[in-house]
Amino acid sequence: MRKHLLTALAVLSCLTNFAWAQSNNGDLVQAKVTAIEPDVIKWRRDLHEHPELSNREFETAKKVAAHLRSLGMEVKTDIAHTGVVGLLKGNKPGPVVALRADMDALPVTERVDIPFASKAKSTYLDQEVGVMHACGHDTHVAILMGAASVLSSMKDDLAGSVVFIFQPAEEGRLPEKKVVRN
Ligand SMILES: [Zn+2]
Repeated sequence: MRKHLLTALAVLSCLTNFAWAQSNNGDLVQAKVTAIEPDVIKWRRDLHEHPELSNREFETAKKVAAHLRSLGMEVKTDIAHTGVVGLLKGNKPGPVVALRADMDALPVTERVDIPFASKAKSTYLDQEVGVMHACGHDTHVAILMGAASVLSSMKDDLAGSVVFIFQPAEEGRLPEKKVVRN
């Protein structure tokens, strides 16, 4: 868990630097990142409590798509089953940058006692299994949602476009017959 937290902080730091490079006002960027942090923590805990296996990230994808749409982005869903892609067009010309987060969880039973622990169960290779974000994809998704918020709010000054890719099944695709849409 500590490793994931450090990874999350490193990613957040990269995103801050990316936004910083786009802005003449580093303090403003820092303030925006600080302001969105409570939401990122809230999203991460919700995602952690509701993990979904590869190619079954239906609810996760809905949450992501709704968030990106609320920011006014062009959003495509059902990419490679359950993927979501949002396009943020800045108002100034510039390059296209892609930022990616993976969305799926693992067939692992959570054994820690935290308020947002996963109690999710699913079937995996004909066995009932616990499901858990044991690889940190909950943090990846929450951070990218936060980055989408920050960068969207800087749209007028953004030189170029940012593609937000929420990737399904990073842990490996399930056999086709196991994919059941609820
Ligand atoms: Zn992973």
